[in-house]
Amino acid sequence: MKQADCIIIGGGIAGIQAAIQLGRYKHGIIVIDSAQGRSSIAKAYHNILGWPDGVSGKQLRALGRQHAEKFGVEFLDDTVTSLEKSRTSFLSKQKMTGNIKQK
Ligand SMILES: Cc1cc2nc3c(=O)[nH]c(=O)nc-3n(C[C@H](O)[C@H](O)[C@H](O)COP(=O)(O)OP(=O)(O)OC[C@H]3O[C@@H](n4cnc5c(N)ncnc54)[C@H](O)[C@@H]3O)c2cc1C
Repeated sequence: MKQADCIIIGGGIAGIQAAIQLGRYKHGIIVIDSAQGRSSIAKAYHNILGWPDGVSGKQLRALGRQHAEKFGVEFLDDTVTSLEKSRTSFLSKQKMTGNIKQK
């Protein structure tokens, strides 16, 4: 079974930013994302630092994903269907991929 220090459910702007931060500090991170959020449909963000002419959600997500992957973050294109909590960890279940345990 796959294991991670931290499982991030959702690879939108918030999830990717968290993954970059945690990945930079060498934590083992898996981001599970179904790509159906606001950042997938927004055609242009107009108030993002460094993008005076705007940037699409698609481009921002793709760049963020590349940035996170540089730090060893793993991405799974899938939907989390349940999360089970035990005394010391979490177990994430997805539609398509095998279970993942948070250490
Ligand atoms: C049309 C539009 C225009 C916008 N314009 C701007 C703008 O100009 N400037 C600005 O700052 N903000 C803008 N926003 C708002 C911005 O998109 C959101 O604030 C931002 O996307 C929030 O990021 P998030 O990561 O919280 O959520 P999202 O971007 O919605 O990401 C959440 C992710 O989690 C995934 N997810 C959810 N449940 C599961 C699950 N069970 N398993 C796996 N994955 C899951 C979703 O598929 C999605 O990919 C706009 C939004 C819209 C819709």
